[in-house]
Amino acid sequence: MLIGIPRETRNGETRVAATPETVKKLAASGKHSIVVERGAGLASSIPDADYATAGATLATAAEALVADIVLKVRAPDASELAQVKRGAMLIGLLDPYDAAGVAAIVASGADAYALERLPRISRAQSMDVLSSQANIAGYKAVIMAANEYGKFMPMLMTAAGTVKAARVLVMGVGVAGLQAIATAKRLGAVIEASDVRPSVKDQVESLGGKWVDVPYETDEEREIAEGTGGYARPMPASWMARQSSIIAERVKQMDIVITTALIPGRPAPKLINAETVAAMKPGAVIVDLAVEQGGNVEGSVAGEVVVVNGVHIIGTTNLPALVAADASALYARNVLNFLALSLNAKTGEFAIPADDEIVKATRLAAA
Ligand code: NAD
Repeated sequence: MLIGIPRETRNGETRVAATPETVKKLAASGKHSIVVERGAGLASSIPDADYATAGATLATAAEALVADIVLKVRAPDASELAQVKRGAMLIGLLDPYDAAGVAAIVASGADAYALERLPRISRAQSMDVLSSQANIAGYKAVIMAANEYGKFMPMLMTAAGTVKAARVLVMGVGVAGLQAIATAKRLGAVIEASDVRPSVKDQVESLGGKWVDVPYETDEEREIAEGTGGYARPMPASWMARQSSIIAERVKQMDIVITTALIPGRPAPKLINAETVAAMKPGAVIVDLAVEQGGNVEGSVAGEVVVVNGVHIIGTTNLPALVAADASALYARNVLNFLALSLNAKTGEFAIPADDEIVKATRLAAA
């Protein structure tokens, strides 16, 4: 088998789907050839020579794209897709909620697997790219907020007087939110956090944050809040209105707000409206991690930092790509673990287990 790793071509995408560590494992059986496009790892600080030492052959994009198994970070564009062979196994973050993109991939004849669709079962945890990358996004969101914020994060007592600790609110306490809380805590901030899922309260408190409760008034609200399959569901309007007024009060007190709330395949829920932003302190910073899905914050703009009444709203997209080396290392391990369902790295045997629930959930097929 030929396993190809092309360089990512999407604007701002610095990650790569295999690292020398994973290439070495893929090459271990001696039965497969690994072809890495020259320069594929450079944006993640991986020189070509390291891939060669690990056992890969360096080649052109075309040579990597015609492999039997193509490992990608992002969905291939039309010209890349045209080069992928019919029947080739294509693995990556393939945007399974983009109907036109999925149709193009399916029409290409590639046997494609969208890692966003991994089921949240314990066996799939080592392959869970959304979690590995959300963890990085949560960390980087705090670092970016600290950079944009014109004050200290920790409380300081100096000869020139005392500096107050920054107050940080994290909305949406999934993987990214938990890492944001942990990172802000390490920087010395005072943290509050909120989510639809009441089960997260203990996790927030164990990280030293204060839980902001939005109470339920009906059984329906309580049931929807538990989500399905590890993912949130859209909450009823009554709960969203209650959340909005409780959060508006908290947000006014905050120096930094980080929002991470997502619902797979749907627009991100709006958590903070323009009126609430307008009531914030000048110099306050908001990081909207959901900006690519439409945003949790009214006024956030994808790819930009906008300043509204002195409040800085960071809408930078693809934060994991800004921590490229670690993001690639974790992503590549996730991909290797996913591929291990079909490819035994030691013996080199290859067979896709079509009935495996992880394979079934991720495989893209015609709608
Ligand atoms: P996510 O990125 O889909 O969403 C982020 C957070 O936003 C979630 O906590 C969600 O509840 C919250 N949210 C959604 N709508 C909201 C609203 N209107 N208001 C406030 N918050 C809202 O979530 P995620 O980070 O991918 O993970 C969600 C959970 O799944 C986590 O508890 C995580 O630990 C768990 N998980 C389990 C597995 C596994 O068992 N294999 C793998 C990954 C994650």
